[in-house]
Amino acid sequence: MRQSKLFTKTRKEAPKDEVSLNAQLLLRGGFVEKQTAGVYNYLPLGLRVLNKIQNIIRQEINAVGGVEILMPTLTQAENYKATGRDKTMAEVLFSTNGQNEALYYLNPTHEEIVTPLIKNFVQSYRDLPISVYQIQNKFRNEARAKSGILRGREFSMKDLYSFHATELDLDEYYEKVKEAYFKIYQRVGIGEKTYLTYASGGTFSKYSHEFQTLCEAGEDIIYICDKCHIAINKEIIEEQNSCPVCGNSELKTDKAIEVGNIFKQKTKFTEPFSLKFTDEDGVEKPVQMAAYGIGPSRIMGTIVEISHDEKGIIWPEEIAPFKFHLLNLGKDKEAFAFADDLYREMQTRGWEVLFDDRDDSAGIKLNDSDLLGIPYRIVVSSKTMSENCVELKLRSEALTKLIKIADFWQMFE
Ligand SMILES: [Zn+2]
Repeated sequence: MRQSKLFTKTRKEAPKDEVSLNAQLLLRGGFVEKQTAGVYNYLPLGLRVLNKIQNIIRQEINAVGGVEILMPTLTQAENYKATGRDKTMAEVLFSTNGQNEALYYLNPTHEEIVTPLIKNFVQSYRDLPISVYQIQNKFRNEARAKSGILRGREFSMKDLYSFHATELDLDEYYEKVKEAYFKIYQRVGIGEKTYLTYASGGTFSKYSHEFQTLCEAGEDIIYICDKCHIAINKEIIEEQNSCPVCGNSELKTDKAIEVGNIFKQKTKFTEPFSLKFTDEDGVEKPVQMAAYGIGPSRIMGTIVEISHDEKGIIWPEEIAPFKFHLLNLGKDKEAFAFADDLYREMQTRGWEVLFDDRDDSAGIKLNDSDLLGIPYRIVVSSKTMSENCVELKLRSEALTKLIKIADFWQMFE
């Protein structure tokens, strides 16, 4: 992509009403633009990052047998009355009236939709298990939305729901999804800082699990067992002050951001919607269910919070908007033609490259490059051209080096 074709512009300063660091850097880089508190537009560079995160999630959930669907955003109030969540979730539900005063909600989660949906396709144990997911925007009427894209009123969510004949089958699948989640965090670059965290399971299970990423901007406190590399959250520390795996009571506290949660709901939602099946002996039983959430937009915000320096964002390679940022610092026609040829060749090879072909000063281009945080910066100037070289710098390192063009092609092939 040619940077001259990007309609977005970088900003020296973030708007004054943005207090969170993720929103400040994302706004300054032109990745997102605020609509209103907790509601953001995703611009070309930001959408590329979000799509990459979503695709990694998609690949890993497909790998554990999840089947992708798309459920509606809008749902009739009756479904929430059936589970009582029109009352218990009233504070965060956005509602709207349709024709004849019919009440609708904008879904904050989809148990009320997926459970009656699956009921249409399940009669016997032969129809189970089923594992379906979607990647969609969800809505929560947050009292305060000052955390940028970490806590939005509208946000991207991958929600997976699995349905099983037995608790044993549910337990086995739950473990598989747990592993898939760690693969996702590893691939998006936050694996090392992310802890499986024990949380309250409500009335149906002893524990549920959150995935918490260590971060100064985190709103949660977690209690870490270094021996097991797991953590427990605040609700659990009030019930027990030791590690649920090894019993260790020397737990260290740290701030963290919740980047996912998985929950064995068992029959909590299948009973209100009478989602039942007939087992091998002809006995009718309620279906066992679990739900697994992970927020792509929140992951994007978390990465910015933990991977940046004073100059801007440092994107991990697998989710960066582009792999290469090609900058032409030469002022004459020859340098531009040299850089332009390089850009075309990189494109021919299928390399993802943003080409700063703008008629701006070297200072502006270098500052913008640091702010945008693309992993490999390739600089072309009259000097590099005269030596038939490019200058390569990793965004995560200070060192620059001159590389012969022929070696450059080999290096990344
Ligand atoms: Zn432990």
